[in-house]
Amino acid sequence: MNSISKPLLKWFDQHGRHSLPWQASQSSPQEGQGNPANIYHVWLSEIMLQQTQVSTVISYFNNFIHHFPNLLALANASEDAVLAQWAGLGYYARARNLHKTAQIIMQDYHGVFPDNIEQVMALPGIGESTAGAILSISHNQNHAILDGNVKRVLSRYHQVKGHYGQAQTLKQLWALAKQHTPNTRNNDYTQAIMDLGATLCTRSNPDCSRCPVQQGCQSYQHNTQDEYPNPKPKKNKPSRSIAMLIYQNKQGQVYLEKRPTKGIWGGLWSLKECEDSPEEIIRTIQQFDVSARINRMLAPIKHSFTHYNLIINPVVVDCPENICGFQPIHQLKVGTPTPVNKILMQLD
Ligand code: SF4
Repeated sequence: MNSISKPLLKWFDQHGRHSLPWQASQSSPQEGQGNPANIYHVWLSEIMLQQTQVSTVISYFNNFIHHFPNLLALANASEDAVLAQWAGLGYYARARNLHKTAQIIMQDYHGVFPDNIEQVMALPGIGESTAGAILSISHNQNHAILDGNVKRVLSRYHQVKGHYGQAQTLKQLWALAKQHTPNTRNNDYTQAIMDLGATLCTRSNPDCSRCPVQQGCQSYQHNTQDEYPNPKPKKNKPSRSIAMLIYQNKQGQVYLEKRPTKGIWGGLWSLKECEDSPEEIIRTIQQFDVSARINRMLAPIKHSFTHYNLIINPVVVDCPENICGFQPIHQLKVGTPTPVNKILMQLD
């Protein structure tokens, strides 16, 4: 099989992305030039990019390294401080895993990020593709990667049948990814194939006319770009409805409590919630403060998780008693889930 690496690397030298903030120390597109990438920056960016696009990640990345410039600063930070800088990026287990990983590296590796793939894969939240990308980009080690962009490119290039959520399809894609990965300039190739997926071989309307691997691409030749990757077999997402209680005191502050580490929005600060029924809402309010009274309902918020949709009905409750736990809405120093931010914005 002809590897796509040669035309891809040629294209990357001219058109690839060379000025992303985590690439700052490896700014030269040519092999052997520039400084090696900072593995701390590469690791952070790879974790942030797992579920999120580059355009969104850039400002979060810059902000994160401003607050936690190195592994030691991240390991020594409180979980609340880490989650506060992550708030809005979603998939909060990623932030908790970053924090845990920084502490493991300080304790078990004397503060030096490991450069062995098995050791990197054993760290929390790092799978084979992410470990490969971290070591390829930072140390130019010879590893294949298979993130969402690469899955899309290879599915189209080879017209791979089946959805990559299925074990057989995933196995086939890994085999192809390994066959295409070159022994030299591995770091540039890793960046190049991610760039191809992100900029030309995009989810909709791929720009095949400018694609460097067009010649060997099966989907281009058969005009089947829209069919690959094959879609995930459809399942209707169930919905769940809850009430969120916005207890507000006379000073206009709201009551927030820290969620358990496990489960949705783990470790973030959120509003009290209960079953969405009038009886349960009243019972919950009275348990909190017998003198509290419902003020009004706000517009419902729909929030989609991978496996279900959550419908949140916000209820504003006036609390005359001055119970501790109230926080000023406009100077929150803790991380809150995106739907809670949306609800609090409705209070203005
Ligand atoms: S030719 Fe089109 S479909 Fe094929 S890899 Fe390039 S951009 Fe993707």
